[in-house]
Amino acid sequence: MADSSFKGLAIGGRSLETDDAINFAERYEVTYICPNKHITILPFSSEAEVPPVWECRCGKIAHVRGNTPYKTPKKASRSKTHWEMLTDRRSMEDLQKNLDERLKMLESGKIHRGL
Ligand SMILES: [Zn+2]
Repeated sequence: MADSSFKGLAIGGRSLETDDAINFAERYEVTYICPNKHITILPFSSEAEVPPVWECRCGKIAHVRGNTPYKTPKKASRSKTHWEMLTDRRSMEDLQKNLDERLKMLESGKIHRGL
């Protein structure tokens, strides 16, 4: 009775779906080596933060080997302040000159202070 419920299904059977329409994320392999010279190769997504160490099957700590493209964690980007953008475009001398001109215009009444 119980046997018939599995009719037609192989244990560990394969899915009928294909991978054709799936775009896998770009990945690369990272090689770790432990003090006992055990080598562990792990695939990581190019987006993933690769850990610098990995626990080996022998229990020792394995380190990234060779020229593995080790990514440093992305720093949170901070937008520039108005002042930083201004000093990127103009030197302090230019800014001082501009300020002096504007102050003279203000004092002479050529321009008015905005409210
Ligand atoms: Zn090991």
